[in-house]
Amino acid sequence: MAAANFLSQHSSNPLEVSASDPRNRLYRQQYMEATMPQNYSSDDPISGFDTPEQEEYRAHIAGLFSKMPRTVPLSQESAKSAQNPEDPGVPPPADADNYEEVAQEVQEEGSDVDGSEASTDEEMTIRLKPQEEQEEIEEEIGDLEDSVPQLNEDYRIIDRLGTGTFSSVYKAVDLGYHRKWDNAVWHGRHPPSSSAFYQSLPHSQSSKVYIAIKRIYVTSNPERIRNEISIMEECRMCRHVSQLITAFRHNDQVVAIMPYHRNEDFRHFFRVLPMEGIKSYFRCLFRALRDIHARGVIHRDVKPANFLFDPRAGIGTLCDFGLASRMEPGASLGACLHSGATREKPHGLVGPISQEDIEHIKKMQREARQKSSWTSDRVGYPEKDLRPLSKANRAGTRGFRAPEVLLKCGAQTGAIDVWSAGVILLFFLTGKFPLFQSNDDIEALMEIAVIIGKRKMERIATLHSRTFATNVPSVSPDGITWRDFVARQNPDLMTPPKPDPHYYPYSSRDTSADNPTSSPEPPDQATHGADVESALDFLEHVMDPDCTKRFTPRQALYHPFLLEPEKYEDDEYFPHPFGEGVCGEFHMIDEETDELCVRIGTDDGEDVIRVEAGEGIAIGSNPCEFHQDLDL
Ligand SMILES: [Zn+2]
Ligand SMILES: [Zn+2]
Repeated sequence: MAAANFLSQHSSNPLEVSASDPRNRLYRQQYMEATMPQNYSSDDPISGFDTPEQEEYRAHIAGLFSKMPRTVPLSQESAKSAQNPEDPGVPPPADADNYEEVAQEVQEEGSDVDGSEASTDEEMTIRLKPQEEQEEIEEEIGDLEDSVPQLNEDYRIIDRLGTGTFSSVYKAVDLGYHRKWDNAVWHGRHPPSSSAFYQSLPHSQSSKVYIAIKRIYVTSNPERIRNEISIMEECRMCRHVSQLITAFRHNDQVVAIMPYHRNEDFRHFFRVLPMEGIKSYFRCLFRALRDIHARGVIHRDVKPANFLFDPRAGIGTLCDFGLASRMEPGASLGACLHSGATREKPHGLVGPISQEDIEHIKKMQREARQKSSWTSDRVGYPEKDLRPLSKANRAGTRGFRAPEVLLKCGAQTGAIDVWSAGVILLFFLTGKFPLFQSNDDIEALMEIAVIIGKRKMERIATLHSRTFATNVPSVSPDGITWRDFVARQNPDLMTPPKPDPHYYPYSSRDTSADNPTSSPEPPDQATHGADVESALDFLEHVMDPDCTKRFTPRQALYHPFLLEPEKYEDDEYFPHPFGEGVCGEFHMIDEETDELCVRIGTDDGEDVIRVEAGEGIAIGSNPCEFHQDLDL
């Protein structure tokens, strides 16, 4: 589509119209008015989902953005709420002097010391850390402020959220949120009944707004930084995905600004999260994967540390796109026997195999089997790469890599993220984390082979044009199912955990307000048993070692384990990639500049405007914000 030509025919220079154009602002205002929780009307296209549960859920989401505890006057009311299930450790309002005392108490109670406790005063989280760490963090913050001076004008950095090999992430107060920025682009426009509505909910006027600043180390390859930022931009409007607010550079320093999401360390909750909470975890995660995969992006590093989950709210956000890559469209890159991702087959499919190939593979397998009967100090390893030269992407974290990554598949798809998500489900079901502790890819393959068996592993190796040989006795020919593996690891699997008021769904009660609601009934033995059965069936599909048969995220969301037929059809909330969906034909990408453009009707006919990444996204069967009035 020659958008550039089209644009140049306009004398009014439509390219000057930016995202902050008044028309967009007006739209945003209308949208926000129409979608604020108190304003539901029956002509809302999704009002069919306005069940009491949804209302309650929304009210709860809205509560996430309520004022900080210390702005609440200390009264009996708030003292009571300090003990209520939703706010298990609210420090009473405190001035700076006695805050340390309170922080000390919180620590002594064995509560979260990394500052992610939901009830913690978000601005004071650093004070909950050991003195030595505080000093180290303060020094780092000082260094960041010196290195990227333009941060100081707009943000007040208050804590460190995490440190990785390639970056560190800090928490800051966004000083310009209410008066300086147009936040519409990154807030997006998820409908109120979408589980991702929290991303679109603007912060109330009086609230302090927290953001996360990711400082990408200068040692990082520039191409890699560019890749991460551009992928994040492309993933705007994806559900449960960390949104890029902005990014900038000062000399050799690059920082990315994202919304801050409250979360808790996985190790604190994975053994005790109720089944409903586990379902919420995976609904959010698979929605995130569905949306990014639809944009041709593979995350490559799905693991608990990269999924910010708030176990009280039951909401999670996929973050850290530092290792993310784009799927190579269509054909296989190496000499695998399956294709790469296509629209119809996002996880590829096994193509026609020539007789010559079959003979060759059979010969290789015979040789490999013979070898595996020898006594050898090389206990087990994938044999002979038949392909010319392997340049397979192996990025990821040990223990989470899918078999095809370990086998250096050259046509990797989003299926690798689904496998990693399956590994997380294994942690929940077995009650063990971590589970796999290999030192290298070979050991990792052996760990998987011990479970799925030698025969299956041979077949999988063949799929990626490799052979698998082992003489390790613990690798049985047929292996066991994931279900059996889980049952052996966790004898208490069928016992429902005691309902814990710290965790969703037992936590989301607004007991201090006028509408006290009761906690949901905890599941009885039978319900819990059925849920576990369903989870185990689900597990076999998301951990299918054959990547072409592994569930896609959409299939995962429609499996009985995650499906909510009475209130949520995922397709209806799916944000289409730019240019797809009902109004797709009115969207185009400028071939020369790669800019996103939409065609809109005006009083004088037609106009084309440039939009930013995240704008002009059609959701489900609804048109994007620019084409609401079109008769489609
Ligand atoms: Zn392959
Ligand atoms: Zn549109």
